[in-house]
Amino acid sequence: MKTSAATTIGHFIDGKTVPGASGRYGDIYDPAAGEVTKRVAFASRPEMENAVLAAAAAFPAWAATPPLRRARVMFRFKELLDRHADELAALVTAEHGKVLSDARGSVTRGIEVVEFACGIPHLLKGSFSESVGTGVDSNSVRQPIGVCAGITPFNFPAMVPMWMFPMAIACGNTFVLKASEKDPSCSMRLAELLAEAGLPPGVLNVVNGDKVAVDALLTHPKVAAVSFVGSTPVAEYVYKTSATLGKRVQALGGAKNHAIVMPDADLDQAVEALMGAAYGSAGERCMAISVAVAVGNQVGDALVAKLKEQLGKLKIGPGSRPDSEMGPLVTREHLMKVKGYVDLGVKEGATLVVDGRGLNVPGRENGFFLGGCLFDRVTPDMRICKEEIFGPVLAVVRAPDFETALRIANEHEFGNGTAVFTRDGDTAREFSARVQAGMVGINVPIPVPMAFHSFGGWKRSLFGDLYMHGPEGVSFYTRLKTITSRWPTGIRKGAEYVMPTMK
Ligand code: NAD
Repeated sequence: MKTSAATTIGHFIDGKTVPGASGRYGDIYDPAAGEVTKRVAFASRPEMENAVLAAAAAFPAWAATPPLRRARVMFRFKELLDRHADELAALVTAEHGKVLSDARGSVTRGIEVVEFACGIPHLLKGSFSESVGTGVDSNSVRQPIGVCAGITPFNFPAMVPMWMFPMAIACGNTFVLKASEKDPSCSMRLAELLAEAGLPPGVLNVVNGDKVAVDALLTHPKVAAVSFVGSTPVAEYVYKTSATLGKRVQALGGAKNHAIVMPDADLDQAVEALMGAAYGSAGERCMAISVAVAVGNQVGDALVAKLKEQLGKLKIGPGSRPDSEMGPLVTREHLMKVKGYVDLGVKEGATLVVDGRGLNVPGRENGFFLGGCLFDRVTPDMRICKEEIFGPVLAVVRAPDFETALRIANEHEFGNGTAVFTRDGDTAREFSARVQAGMVGINVPIPVPMAFHSFGGWKRSLFGDLYMHGPEGVSFYTRLKTITSRWPTGIRKGAEYVMPTMK
């Protein structure tokens, strides 16, 4: 393993790239090679303070910039993103490990949020009521809230930051992003491109680091709102810390997404969908399907047999190779954690139908690879069913009927995404009405809402009220003001001491 780091990533503060000053750094790996390729500076509290103060200083002028001008910056940013999409995808693959086509797809999903943000003049149009009283009118407007913070996970280093800052900035706020320390290069590049698009200095800042940087953001009095995406324990901590200090918070956490496969499902279609949803991005997606609930033993047997066959054909290799369908996991530590869950599943008594632990990728022996793993006869009380594994491990649970399958999904502590595979409209309708999850797929395995809808889960998959991007994103990054006006005509009624009402 190489120990010398070629490149050191600093921070982007007040329109400039600056080196780290704390003397603390983290390693960035090429997960396919298992080697350190870069290192990233970890910010100290004073460095974070500089970024927050730059964002606070930039706020009044940016908030006063007409929404149409803000939208024009977003249009130019979107053009630059289109031009640099392959470069961004290559950065995702280099540091995260996922295959290039998947990385490119995630960049596109991020660009779609920027596209949505280009419509900000329309999205911020208020409402007006004429004559709420005699000669009295009322109008409501949405205004920016100030300095907003974003803290993002490793698994979508381009898309998840773009769920946040384009909406916040288009709404007139300024922003400080603390990207994942495992793959921070995309965020730095996004900040450079947005500056090139004409964003004034200080409006978007990227500060890299670990818990020290996060805590400095959460507790800073000038930070008005916090958007977080990551694991549930940290989401809960971010929510409690920030909300106690009176900040607005949306904190999206972990997941364990269930797909119910009904006896009338098109099984081949369901198997293809499950393969992509369970093993795509090596299972490192908060919308991955990690539990398949087969309704009826016949479905269970057929499903497991077909999944086993498909897993035998899954092409695993470096994400940069065009024929790879699944890349490595992000770090050795994460690989060991996921392998540990496979060991645990065996101990818990589940049937390990396909064991990916012995995988060898020739020439990449030090890479963080794990083959796709498939468990059958998993039960809801097993830890491999209860806990988020975040790797290429699919658990098949068998249920005798739809009601039991639905109960298994609903009793889980997480409620991010879910799906049902069926050809029956009544079952699909019943499922979408009663399932306890924020995002539901009907024969769609990964029902990630488009940019003009909003993304978020239920139960312990989200702390806070408002979801990411779409209309809820606009609500999160603005506050409502309602103005009631009267232009007196000279008739004086004298002081009134009762609650004004329409008689
Ligand atoms: P993580 O919680 O370890 O880290 C997320 C961010 O929080 C990072 O920027 C990290 O530096 C910071 N952080 C980590 N520990 C911290 C601490 N103790 N105090 C303060 N800050 C801390 O998550 P991850 O491993 O980067 O990402 C994977 C997780 O993210 C999975 O649980 C996955 O389900 C979740 N995720 C959820 C969604 C969603 O929309 N719900 C989307 C993507 C990922």
